[in-house]
Amino acid sequence: MKNISSTMGGGKYWRKCLLLLGMISIITSCFEEDKLEEPVQGVEEAKTDLDKYIEANFTEEYGIAIRYKFVDNFVDPGQRVTPPKLEVVRPMLDLIEEYWIDVYADVDGGEAYFRRYVPAELVFLGGLIFNGDGTVTLGTADAGARITFTDVNSIDFDDDEWLLRQLHTVYHEFAHIVHQNDKLPSAFEEIAASGYSSAGSWFNLTEEDALMRGFVSPYATSSPNEDFAETIAFYMAEADFIDDYITLEDNCTTAACENRNAGRVLILEKLNAIKEHYLRSTGIDLDELRASAQSRL
Ligand SMILES: [Zn+2]
Repeated sequence: MKNISSTMGGGKYWRKCLLLLGMISIITSCFEEDKLEEPVQGVEEAKTDLDKYIEANFTEEYGIAIRYKFVDNFVDPGQRVTPPKLEVVRPMLDLIEEYWIDVYADVDGGEAYFRRYVPAELVFLGGLIFNGDGTVTLGTADAGARITFTDVNSIDFDDDEWLLRQLHTVYHEFAHIVHQNDKLPSAFEEIAASGYSSAGSWFNLTEEDALMRGFVSPYATSSPNEDFAETIAFYMAEADFIDDYITLEDNCTTAACENRNAGRVLILEKLNAIKEHYLRSTGIDLDELRASAQSRL
């Protein structure tokens, strides 16, 4: 699970995991039953072309429900959200096809794995989720069953920051499926053991602090599971991953430079363990998957 948040106005992104309340799914299923059991003649909405497209290409094809209406049902009662504009739904579906479904379909073993483990629900929220504590949630997922995309009304395929944020969300959440089904790589948590942050403190770290500890992001220091998911998401989405997180800086003359390089050695060790585990566990070569994603970006 992941919940990416940023402090209002500060521009400093921070993330935390969030358990969605069971109550939400109860409300949701009640709502659906009501709709199914009490059709009112002449009042029930006719299926739009968009609904037919979703039904054929997502629901029947992959068993995915796309939630873009009544989105208040998919967040905590205290959270304020905006529904997506109707005209952004189809482009979001295209994004999911191109940067997620097709990325898997194009590699050996990818399609079968995707079909087996794709979450049952994708939720589109028009804006960010405004929380009571002044933070803003950028994306969440719930135990492999649902992924929530936020800020979809800002859709712009030319806006790298927006696009990468969406891809980070989906790659991160889908990576959790691997360890949920087949644990973490053996002794994964020992590779950068001293770098994990104490509970609830990861957002005090800078990106550089995280790198020096051997992590791709501050959020990755929050637990071995998050580290695993973050490392995969960054490896898939970031074009400069090798330069930024693996290749050692030459001619270090400062302690900071040496510490960054020490962190990179740990990231490489973890990445190698992840690749080996990913292949054994899913049958998919993570390098091929990254290449498939990068070829579209
Ligand atoms: Zn997570």
